Amino acid sequence: MKVGFVGLGNMGLPMAINLLKAGHEVTGYDVAQAARDAAASAGIAVAASLADAAHGAGTLITMLPNGSLVLECWRTLLAHAAPGTLLIDSSTIDVADARAAHAAAALADRQAVDAPVSGGTGGAAAATLTFMVGGTGEAFARAQPILAAMGRKIVHCGDQGAGQAAKICNNMILGISMIAVSEAFVLGEKLGLTHQALFDVASTASGQCWALTTNCPVPGPVPTSPANRGYAPGFATALMLKDLLLSQACAAAFGAETALGAHATELYARYAATGGAATDFSGIINAVRQINAEGRGGE
Ligand code: NAD
Repeated sequence: MKVGFVGLGNMGLPMAINLLKAGHEVTGYDVAQAARDAAASAGIAVAASLADAAHGAGTLITMLPNGSLVLECWRTLLAHAAPGTLLIDSSTIDVADARAAHAAAALADRQAVDAPVSGGTGGAAAATLTFMVGGTGEAFARAQPILAAMGRKIVHCGDQGAGQAAKICNNMILGISMIAVSEAFVLGEKLGLTHQALFDVASTASGQCWALTTNCPVPGPVPTSPANRGYAPGFATALMLKDLLLSQACAAAFGAETALGAHATELYARYAATGGAATDFSGIINAVRQINAEGRGGE
């Protein structure tokens, strides 16, 4: 299968490399020269333009920073994609943008899926990503074997935009639960409870969650968590903030009340603006400590 891959950044390049390893013929494109050079060094054929990346491809994949870029790139790709080409967007974008991309594909008579991922750069490199897919059953069936070269779990979440909806809802849970775990550790500190004691109880009791047992925000209990390496990401706060802002845009557009999601968004925004943007999102525990130092609520 000939695959055109657009957006060869932290996620896109390792994903494109895994497609190559699985035997697909991959042509990549990125606006950044450094990304094109890295792709060429990895053995990926590099297209001279976006239109070029579309030529001869049976599948086109985009892995871009935001929804406007996806819509802009899809305009060009759809104008140059041969009949029968499948379009896959794996970026994390607004549900409304994902639906607009599907509509553009339908207008051009091309099949498409939204297929955002979780698993981060580690999962992208190891081909163990989870794909959350939105689109028709027929488009999903076509995308499935291609996604299988880059991921371990592929879930058909529903129609157009359902993949993005699942991604955004999941990450809202994650953002909120990391703050809950952080507040519990800070309260425990004030109560004279050791981190290990709280971990030993909560990790096997009803407080158990991924934020605690895999990405624990204090050093010690989970030696591989970012807290043990100065909060080097991992999953950067800037990306968590992006996903939470998407959750709030969706909540506003679709009339959902998400009070904790809204408050979590404010806390990550404050943490990102005060030096935390590039650190792992579990560093939010330091913002919780700062709020405590400033006095209850910090406002
Ligand atoms: P990145 O910034 O490393 O890569 C994006 C790439 O797109 C860059 O190389 C950039 O030059 C390229 N690009 C921008 N505009 C372009 C255009 N018009 N044409 C071609 N290329 C263009 O970002 P990333 O970390 O790879 O993330 C990509 C997407 O995946 C984002 O939507 C992000 O939210 C999502 N995501 C990231 C992670 C993660 O851990 N990094 C995890 C899950 C999902």
